[in-house]
Amino acid sequence: MIDEFNHPIPITKNYLPPFEEFNSCLRSIWDCNGQLTNDGPFLVEFEKKIQAYTEAEYFCAVTNGTLALQLALRALGIDNGEIITSPFSYVATVSAILWEHCVPVFVDIDPETLCIDASKIESAVTNRTKAILGVHVYGHPCNIESIDKIAKKHNLPVIYDGAHAFGIKYKEKSLLSYGDVSTCSFHATKLLHTMEGGGVFSNLPEVADRLILMRKFGISKENCVSLGINAKASEIQAVMGLCNLEHIDEIINKRLEICEIYDSVLSASTLRPLNKGRNEYKCCTYYPVIFENEKLLLTAFSRLNEENIFPRRYFYPSLNTLPYVKNKDHCLVSEDISSRIACLPLYYGLKERDIRRIAKILINL
Ligand SMILES: *Cc1c(COP(=O)(O)O)cnc(C)c1O
Repeated sequence: MIDEFNHPIPITKNYLPPFEEFNSCLRSIWDCNGQLTNDGPFLVEFEKKIQAYTEAEYFCAVTNGTLALQLALRALGIDNGEIITSPFSYVATVSAILWEHCVPVFVDIDPETLCIDASKIESAVTNRTKAILGVHVYGHPCNIESIDKIAKKHNLPVIYDGAHAFGIKYKEKSLLSYGDVSTCSFHATKLLHTMEGGGVFSNLPEVADRLILMRKFGISKENCVSLGINAKASEIQAVMGLCNLEHIDEIINKRLEICEIYDSVLSASTLRPLNKGRNEYKCCTYYPVIFENEKLLLTAFSRLNEENIFPRRYFYPSLNTLPYVKNKDHCLVSEDISSRIACLPLYYGLKERDIRRIAKILINL
């Protein structure tokens, strides 16, 4: 038997809905028409409920959050040129840009919010710029008003990578309802998940129409009308999403409680928890802390690892330093922060005793 004080504590654990709820949906697939994909009834219901929850005009579910970004670019007619973006994100943001044969132009981040620094965007605009792609990092909103102003002035579309933005409201509206297009990920580790999955939100009907066409090979009424790809989400993904959505308030509240316990214990340390705006926006998918320097971060990791606790360096490295990124513009804030930021374990079911144990180790570094 595993010693109860020494069970491994990972950075995250997937939320699993009550088995009976998941199972009863599966039962209805088996008992009814056996449909597993291609716009089945569960996917249609999932899309309706997500659209209602976020109040975005259009929502289109796809296979994952990376394809959501790729399709967002394509739906805006972008298949080359420069995309102004943030170097402080998960690698998928830049992968999607590069995979679509575009050039990422990195603009450094705001040291407070860790989102793209809107005051530095305009000087990065050239006649090759095709879009601005911001990331609401850890659920913290980008400077939406400033970005909107710059975009309008230069006639550029705005895309938000909202992989961390589900459940977050900004000015009374879902954060995912901003921008010309916003994408989300429903990967197993995200706040709401469909095992693998993602989606694209848009307020532009022509973009929504194109997405629906593109995600199923460009086929409309059995005719191949334009270039498409396969990005269809399955019925099983939709079932998982629907079951989890039933519990979303409880999931959010539990996670916020965990953040508060971390906050209260860590207030006695030199660490800087990234809680600017967290309570205002109820960001609870990650608990990032910024160490004074990288050496201290590495010391903390080895102490925690000795106790079978596994935080994660997230996001590291700064994306402008990746070996396959050609334009190596320096982003000093992003490079500095990514060298000394980490996320602490945070998941539904993480015990208060363990949270305090983690925080104590960090206080006594
Ligand atoms: C998770 C994530 C993605 C990718 O989503 P997948 O569903 O895993 O493809 C994109 N951007 C950010 C910021 C993410 O955290």
